[in-house]
Amino acid sequence: MRNWISLLLIFFSSIASGEDKTTLYDFRYWSAPDHTRIVIDKDEDTLFNINSSNDYVIISFDDAEVLSETFSNIFFKDDRIQKVRIKREKSTIKLIVHINSKFNVKHFTLIPNAKYKHHRLVVDIIDSEPKPTKKILGPVKPPSIKNQQIILVDAGHGGEDSGAVGRNKSLEKNVNLAIAKKLVAIINKNKDFNAVLSRGGDYYIPLTKRLTIAQKQKASMFISIHADSVESVSAKGASVYILSEKGNNSKLARQLEDSQNVVDQFGGVEKVIDNDQFLKNILTDYSRKDKEKQSFQLAQEIISQLSKVGPIHKKIPQKANFVVLKSPSIPSVLVETAFISNPTQEKRLTNKNQQEKIAQSIYEGIVSFYQKLD
Ligand SMILES: [Zn+2]
Repeated sequence: MRNWISLLLIFFSSIASGEDKTTLYDFRYWSAPDHTRIVIDKDEDTLFNINSSNDYVIISFDDAEVLSETFSNIFFKDDRIQKVRIKREKSTIKLIVHINSKFNVKHFTLIPNAKYKHHRLVVDIIDSEPKPTKKILGPVKPPSIKNQQIILVDAGHGGEDSGAVGRNKSLEKNVNLAIAKKLVAIINKNKDFNAVLSRGGDYYIPLTKRLTIAQKQKASMFISIHADSVESVSAKGASVYILSEKGNNSKLARQLEDSQNVVDQFGGVEKVIDNDQFLKNILTDYSRKDKEKQSFQLAQEIISQLSKVGPIHKKIPQKANFVVLKSPSIPSVLVETAFISNPTQEKRLTNKNQQEKIAQSIYEGIVSFYQKLD
């Protein structure tokens, strides 16, 4: 009997103090041209339910509470989301997301990693009626001139995937996008070229999708913009990577490859390249050796131009087996513009004039590559 009473007491006191409630720690939204991603930081065992009708999605959490300091982060609006409301029904919290276009909902969960300490629920609200590519890719130059070279400029990372983080908290994804946008603007002043961005805003694109964008745009060159990061604060300078069939030629390349490809797990829905028949076809359809040689030449030209405006980390093009570079049908390089992990270089990467200089050098590299090609 005594045991019973103490058990009951424990039971009631745990309800009173809310000990069995789970916590919703934070809410983030990322607007992409074709979807909006909602990310909710939660406990591992938080029970949730997702229901949708024609114009709203309800995400309900059982026995949950919201951190007061992140409460205001719930309310969000973009082209797709008209408004978000919160409703409490007994111990259930309902997030009601009103949507003003036709949509599909997909969701998945992610476990904690080096960058995110909480479990995450990711809910994607995806347009069911595709928008014109112009909207998806941002400003596209009208294809007026024949024989124009189309260059896909890819800003690495985005959205939930911040990429490397500098000592002064600069995010690689933002630096990459700033330089990529400047590069596109510079390239498009030349009527022989038409540059297109893989992403024009702060949202995540899976690595293999970046490649399919290049294919769909009929790009004849693929340039991916990144910033480097290592433990040591003193490492500095730019490096340029190309695809290699055999994989890496250095330990650093291997580390980089791991960290870049790990990004796929952040997205949570990415297929491994070997399972993707479409990409497999791309890989086998074209003469690889020739394109690898061209990628190497392009990388050399970019390094030579970058050396005029700042330090170089690796003087010869590096070979790495990045998923994003497995597009050998066109010359493809990944430019590590500088080390964001070095505070001096971080300052440079976030400075508009320096970003312009870096972009200009990459452009000069592209031009001299084409000049030497014919
Ligand atoms: Zn990166």
